Amino acid sequence: MMDFGEQTIIASNESKGIVNAVRDVFDGKKMETNPTKELLNLSIGDPTFFGNLPVHQVMKEAVKEAVDSDNFNGYGPAHGLLCARQTVAKHYTTPEAPLTDDDIIITCGCSGALDSCFTVLGEPGQNILVPVPVYPLDSCVAASRGLTIKCYQLSVRQPDRQWEADVDKMDQLIDKDTVAIVVVNPSNPCGSVYSKQHLLDILAVAEKHSLPIIADEIYNDLVYKGQHSYPIATLSKNVPILSCGGIGKKYLVPGWRVGWILIHDRHDRFKKEVVPSLIKVSRKSLGITTLVQAALPKILDTVPKSYYENTMSLVEANANIAYGELSVVGGLTPVMPSGALYMMVGVELSKFPHINTTVEFMEKLMAEESVFILCGECFLSPGFIRLVLLMPSEKMKESCHRIREFSYRHYEV
Ligand SMILES: *Cc1c(COP(=O)(O)O)cnc(C)c1O
Repeated sequence: MMDFGEQTIIASNESKGIVNAVRDVFDGKKMETNPTKELLNLSIGDPTFFGNLPVHQVMKEAVKEAVDSDNFNGYGPAHGLLCARQTVAKHYTTPEAPLTDDDIIITCGCSGALDSCFTVLGEPGQNILVPVPVYPLDSCVAASRGLTIKCYQLSVRQPDRQWEADVDKMDQLIDKDTVAIVVVNPSNPCGSVYSKQHLLDILAVAEKHSLPIIADEIYNDLVYKGQHSYPIATLSKNVPILSCGGIGKKYLVPGWRVGWILIHDRHDRFKKEVVPSLIKVSRKSLGITTLVQAALPKILDTVPKSYYENTMSLVEANANIAYGELSVVGGLTPVMPSGALYMMVGVELSKFPHINTTVEFMEKLMAEESVFILCGECFLSPGFIRLVLLMPSEKMKESCHRIREFSYRHYEV
């Protein structure tokens, strides 16, 4: 009898082509901690990680009711239960960008939404514009579809114009094979929130080239006091927009895996091909779990605004702590965010002669201080580190003290 011997079963090139900048940085790395210091993890963008942000009671009840009803044990429509699509339409429709349940596709998280949009809009060999610092999933999903990413750089130009795109450069990146512009607002990893004018400037580029926009708006409404995030579709009457979102971040349940695409069709540009294809793509998985979809109306209708405002108060307080603690440290330049759950800190490597890259900064900080941050390389942006601002404020303070100590120790003029 033949047996398998040493033979390896071969995986497809498509699957092997899936890249993930974060995994690439960590590949084969053993991140050593300092055994005398408690690990402080500022690397994970999962709001459940520290246990300090409990899930709203109403949400638990909503899922329990869905289970107990016995009405949601069968298959639903692949692109989402009608009640889920209706409730998403009701909550996200605006006079400027109206939505009905036909304009909603329910997906497996916001990542599933992005995957569907990239799949439907792009052919292998074509390209898509993404912002850098990049949300790593964008490059991962693009690569898995054989799409090339063309990066438009976000930069800190003035204190009040943080992490904006240079729209002239964006314009120059576009060629005949460009299929869409990805806009992430508010931003992971930057924590920035675009002004209305900046969104209008981006829309003008899309309009000039007749390109659709894929808007990753999972952090819509997750902004600091006095800030406002505009859904980009509310600012244009002409540009077709697929807005991706979900409940993971706003409602603190990323594991529940419910997301959506809001289809803002303009002059029926998506109607003939894109909408039917988005529905076809959803059929590949026969849809997502019905239980959380069934709970969605109660979640969106009854969980009060104060629930996510409370999260953002913590995030803003932590941003103030980190900014205060780190802006006085030579060689570090924290960039004050206005929304989402993150802060980027610039690292002037020339001031740290024994640290050559921000990957090394990350590793040494972990080895000496047991503080875990992500290096900018994870976001294709060396020279920065990213902090997640979700931990209890006492721990945030402690983390920043340790980053300070570490930086002082390695700083040389
Ligand atoms: C977390 C995150 C996602 C993924 O959301 P899921 O609903 O967990 O799939 C997508 N985009 C951005 C910018 C994110 O930060």
